[in-house]
Amino acid sequence: MEDGAEKYDLAEVRWAPRVNPGKIRRLYETDARGIIDEELIEDVGFALYSRCQSILIATEAHAGRLQCPRCGNIIPHHGKRDAVLQCVRCAWRVRWGDYHKTYQDRHLHGGGAMAAFQSYIEEFTKARSPRDRMLAIDRLIHVFHCELVQDPVRSVGINLIYGRNTREVTEFLDRLTYGEASTPEMKATRDAWDKKLEISQRYHPIRRPERDP
Ligand SMILES: [Zn+2]
Repeated sequence: MEDGAEKYDLAEVRWAPRVNPGKIRRLYETDARGIIDEELIEDVGFALYSRCQSILIATEAHAGRLQCPRCGNIIPHHGKRDAVLQCVRCAWRVRWGDYHKTYQDRHLHGGGAMAAFQSYIEEFTKARSPRDRMLAIDRLIHVFHCELVQDPVRSVGINLIYGRNTREVTEFLDRLTYGEASTPEMKATRDAWDKKLEISQRYHPIRRPERDP
């Protein structure tokens, strides 16, 4: 970095990390035993909430509307690498190319699932009970890109949950535990997942576990 001032401004750009899959696995194992683990639901729920916010901000920035990390003001730009962008309200400034690097290759582009990330933020905020929060989490992680407008292309898992690639995270989601005591709405979401996964297999094939006949 050539300019000290820009380095300082970049320090204010923060992206929420993806969620630890171990916690998601535990969430489903617990639910399958008919137990509501309020603390774990809050933990995972808020981590996803922050992650969704980061996805919205990064996707908007990529589309030419950078939200100032200091004051929230929107800074319009044209994606020119060397353009120095400055917030008219608080004077925060950054070179677009440097800002772009902060979110590149971090699975922060919302792609064909922006509505789902947005809805989760609203649903999670409104949900009063741990059960409602659990259902919001469950709906979110089983969304597929483009499922509302065309074929479900690929799971949003890679955007939200840590893993090496789309295949690894999709296989992880496909192996979540369900049981007799699982919340009924979650079983319905699971059935819908099966159907969407079947279609998406032609774009992003995964290995599915063998099922009992
Ligand atoms: Zn500002």
